[in-house]
Amino acid sequence: MTRTRLPRAAPGAARALLMGLAALAAPGCQPVDEPAESQAAQPAPSEEIQPKTFEKFLAEAHVLDDGRLIIDQDILVKDAAAARAFYEGEMAWSRQSQAASSQDGLGSTAQPLTVNQAGGVDTIWTHPQRMELTYCVDTASFGTNANLLVDTLEQATYSWSRRIGVQYRRVVTATCNNATSGVLFNVRQTSLGGANASAFFPNNGRSDRELLIDPISFTTTAGGRDLLGILSHELGHTIGMRHEHIWLANPCTTETAADARIVNAYDVNSVMHYPQCRPSGTGGYRQSDLDYFGAQTLYGTAPALIGVIQ
Ligand SMILES: [Zn+2]
Repeated sequence: MTRTRLPRAAPGAARALLMGLAALAAPGCQPVDEPAESQAAQPAPSEEIQPKTFEKFLAEAHVLDDGRLIIDQDILVKDAAAARAFYEGEMAWSRQSQAASSQDGLGSTAQPLTVNQAGGVDTIWTHPQRMELTYCVDTASFGTNANLLVDTLEQATYSWSRRIGVQYRRVVTATCNNATSGVLFNVRQTSLGGANASAFFPNNGRSDRELLIDPISFTTTAGGRDLLGILSHELGHTIGMRHEHIWLANPCTTETAADARIVNAYDVNSVMHYPQCRPSGTGGYRQSDLDYFGAQTLYGTAPALIGVIQ
């Protein structure tokens, strides 16, 4: 956003804040993700959508121990001012989008796997860095679930690398936090006040490149979720993927399509689509064929598959 992830002026900033940053100016937000369970039902297509007031928007935020806020279900921002910047940016983008839509007579609907942009450029890992996405795990923070987390995270990284040209590698370090050098990102458990997990985009700075996991991720089944699915979704953000549900005509969350580019076509089954935003409200979290196809256009095919083809 400036959004590092969600790019675009103010909102982007907000996202950047996400992970607690201050610099709103830059794009590169951060994805956060995953609302835990409750979610309002999608309004029927014919219903008029009334913008949510900032007061209501802020009241729905979760405050973390360090004062940062989780807004819009999965976006981490530094403080209330950052939350307002995000809110106002999203509202402005939404008004602009609606005006453009009414002018060209087109509805704003769907399209597919979505990549984050900053300044009109896809925020993805370049080669050869994409083949060496290193991370450390703060195993102590996960307590008795440490082994389960490490094993499931390994499966989740493989769920991407078995099909597309990226490789993750865990590095065991003496300490593991967002100041740890020698790795691209760190993984730790912390309370996210209602969110399952939170991640980052490739263009976020090191201090923001954290994969945060709330304890609820180990037990939730909301929307067909499980730990592997949640981690696969979050890892999608770490390679630049945005939420697929931002293309819905009736917004499911406050997040808009600013600083986002559709790679293929709207895919309701995408691992990047919140289950509760699907018409069925379920579906779980696993990559779809379109997810892999879209990601391959960004990162190429996994080397192992190329060898098989040859
Ligand atoms: Zn997400």
